[in-house]
Amino acid sequence: MDIFFCQVCGDKLIRRESGDEVIPFCTSCSKFFFNTPTPCVIVIVMSGPN
Ligand SMILES: [Zn+2]
Repeated sequence: MDIFFCQVCGDKLIRRESGDEVIPFCTSCSKFFFNTPTPCVIVIVMSGPN
């Protein structure tokens, strides 16, 4: 599900291309909003300490 509004300031998000992906971006906050967890984050969580 796409994110259409900034979760910080409530402004409408634009779509900004980043490589092959188009990511919701708030121009007011200069912030990207990823709506799916990235694979690398999952790897870090599952690895954990030891
Ligand atoms: Zn914002």
